[in-house]
Amino acid sequence: MVSEADCLFCKIVAGEIPAKIVHETDRTLAFRDVNPQAPTHVLVVPKDHYPDAAALAAADHGLADDVIKAAHAVAEQEGVAASGYRLVFNTGAGAGQTVFHVHGHVLGGRGLAWPPG
Ligand code: 5GP
Ligand code: ZN
Repeated sequence: MVSEADCLFCKIVAGEIPAKIVHETDRTLAFRDVNPQAPTHVLVVPKDHYPDAAALAAADHGLADDVIKAAHAVAEQEGVAASGYRLVFNTGAGAGQTVFHVHGHVLGGRGLAWPPG
């Protein structure tokens, strides 16, 4: 397992910090956002540490696929897949990324405006 000291989401993956886990595979974990912005707001992470979506894609071993498939499984499980959901990877501080362990936000259960603010 690739992990990084002092990474919040590595600690959630390791079970060192509690989280409301909703979905898990051998290589991914999904848990509820502590500050939800929609009725469904779940974060999907690879268990291995990559700082952002660009680093995850560059790793090039199917892990990005796993994360996206897990996100869709979460949307189905949460009952928002049919009505529509948003999958967001804030990438870089300028885009609002605050936790530098790549995570997809699965947002749904309400109307979502486009473009986002
Ligand atoms: P970002 O801004 O990096 O795209 O998203 C980070 C997300 O992590 C935010 O939506 C924030 O609410 C969430 N978050 C921050 N700390 C924690 C935590 O300790 N537990 C959980 N479950 N979510 C967190
Ligand atoms: Zn990490």
